[in-house]
Amino acid sequence: MGCTAQDVIAALRAGAATVTEHRDELIELDRVIGDADHGENMARGFRAVAAKMDTSAPETPGAVLKLCATVLISTVGGASGPLYGTAFLRAAAAVSDAPELDGTAVAKAVQAGLEGVVARGRAEVGDKTMVDALTPAVEAAKNAAESGEGPAKVLAAAAEAAHQGAQATEPLVARKGRASYLGERSAGHIDPGARSTALLLSAFAEAAGG
Ligand code: ADP
Ligand code: MG
Ligand code: MG
Repeated sequence: MGCTAQDVIAALRAGAATVTEHRDELIELDRVIGDADHGENMARGFRAVAAKMDTSAPETPGAVLKLCATVLISTVGGASGPLYGTAFLRAAAAVSDAPELDGTAVAKAVQAGLEGVVARGRAEVGDKTMVDALTPAVEAAKNAAESGEGPAKVLAAAAEAAHQGAQATEPLVARKGRASYLGERSAGHIDPGARSTALLLSAFAEAAGG
């Protein structure tokens, strides 16, 4: 059972709901090692994505992902807008104009998203960024797809790995983004972008039925 454009829209709406629900938590994480706007950035961006889906009807999963990317890039200031925007843009390119996505296509989309974040932000694993959540997510998604799982299970595997990756940012010293200005003082706190990545993947997985 593949993921249609409507399924991708439903996943993005679930993503919007989750970042809205966790807005204050993400603000608090960003307050201690950044500038306290990550929750608002994500809530505003995904609110705009959901609103855009009300007024336009992209016909393929790739077109939905591309529209999401352009909305995020144009509505979210700060580091996370261009980074998530690039992730969704690369995911869109990876799925091309396929009418439905199977587990393998979903895993490839997540991988392309990571590649986009890395191309844009040049962060490596261990730098205490969203890359620390996305990298294990890609690995888990790939493994699930290779064992024949569909979109829901692939996303569920990705989400679980992303939560572990986000949790593992806690002791790290940030080497990219605003948190890196704090040096050693950034240790002892979870990275907000890694947390939002895990939350989004969980929402996508749940929306897909995983
Ligand atoms: P800003 O830091 O501009 O206020 P946000 O608070 O919305 O933007 O996003 C901060 C998050 O962006 C960080 O928690 C981190 O996960 C991510 N981030 C910042 N710089 C990079 C980078 N170079 N590569 C990957 N992710 C990054
Ligand atoms: Mg911030
Ligand atoms: Mg900011």
